[in-house]
Amino acid sequence: MSQNGVARSAPYPDFPVDYQKLIKLFECPLCHEYMRPPIPQCKKGHVLCEKCRPKVKGVCPLCKQLVGNQTNLMMEKICLLVKFPCGYAEKGCSELVPLREKTHHESMCDFHPVHCEYTRNGCDVILCLRDMTKHVRQCRFRPA
Ligand SMILES: [Zn+2]
Ligand SMILES: [Zn+2]
Ligand SMILES: [Zn+2]
Ligand SMILES: [Zn+2]
Repeated sequence: MSQNGVARSAPYPDFPVDYQKLIKLFECPLCHEYMRPPIPQCKKGHVLCEKCRPKVKGVCPLCKQLVGNQTNLMMEKICLLVKFPCGYAEKGCSELVPLREKTHHESMCDFHPVHCEYTRNGCDVILCLRDMTKHVRQCRFRPA
């Protein structure tokens, strides 16, 4: 017999989804960026991102079926529940952020590349936010 339903309320031993595989589903097969609503789909249900829709000229690159004005409602709903890797993941950011916070996070992200604030004085250095703080202090274009 179960003991006072303890087993039922016990936490899941593991996150019940393979996150890497899940997040892969949201990668556009053409540009490999993460899709966000609206998410167009072909007649068969293959999805692509809105930016790539004009590129395929109404034909699904995977199955050659029609890509019309239909969007994939379920993908659109699920992608609002999933946290996505920051766009600067390759540069070293390990944050996962909900879609609605992604743009904001990326604009403040430590790994966001920025121009040196002394660009106008002739500095053409571009570094991630984190390294820029250090650079600015030693920038040779910094006015004395
Ligand atoms: Zn795309
Ligand atoms: Zn298709
Ligand atoms: Zn980030
Ligand atoms: Zn500089």
